[in-house]
Amino acid sequence: MALHLVKNNSVAIGVLDLQGGVHEHLDHLERLGIAHKKVKSESDFKDLAGLIIPGGESSCIAKLLNIFEIKKTILNTHRDGMKIWGTCAGAILLAKKVINETPCLGLINMEIERNSFGSQLDSFVKEALIPAVAAEPIPLTFIRAPKITKVGKNVQILLKIEDYIAAAENENVLVTVFHPELTGCLALHRYFAIKCGLQPASNKQDCIDRHWKSSSWTRLARIASAELFQQPERR
Ligand code: GLN
Repeated sequence: MALHLVKNNSVAIGVLDLQGGVHEHLDHLERLGIAHKKVKSESDFKDLAGLIIPGGESSCIAKLLNIFEIKKTILNTHRDGMKIWGTCAGAILLAKKVINETPCLGLINMEIERNSFGSQLDSFVKEALIPAVAAEPIPLTFIRAPKITKVGKNVQILLKIEDYIAAAENENVLVTVFHPELTGCLALHRYFAIKCGLQPASNKQDCIDRHWKSSSWTRLARIASAELFQQPERR
């Protein structure tokens, strides 16, 4: 495997800002005190130690990567040392093999199946222990998630549940089929920041924010729920 060095001036983690859950990742990085920014054009990639490809719709993000002409930039910057974490749709885009589909970036030696649990209505939450990431079980949110069905050489499984792999990594790429950014837990963002050679703020407390409601992320959405924000009724 090629030797990947993080450049000294690489200080930030970028979140690919084409489609999907961008703000939720930025919010978690902010809470960890990690420099962060949205990225969508070549010049945005200059100081990146890491890139998060968020969840969303992989077919849509794949098209936008071509439209915005940054696929090559991602591959080149990754080759020069930038680590990448793909959550859900992001994991699909990073896989070398996507069942019945054409792979996109092909940066991690694994096979993945899109929408493997069923439709949006088959989304679910659960908790699991990921020993490499945190000492306690952490909350996991699966939204029309894929299943990682196989990993190849140089890929470590971080979490296997029943018949599928839910998190894996190689030296330079992390993939999760669930959404840590939609929970109150910072453990995976911390794990990725450290993988990128960055130092997240120390957190003496348990990494899980016990006051986090499953709807907490909606404060970042433009459509505010009446129950959370008590907005006057629209006419
Ligand atoms: N089902 C989506 C896809 O195939 C992924 C869903 C997600 O990112 N939550 O791209």
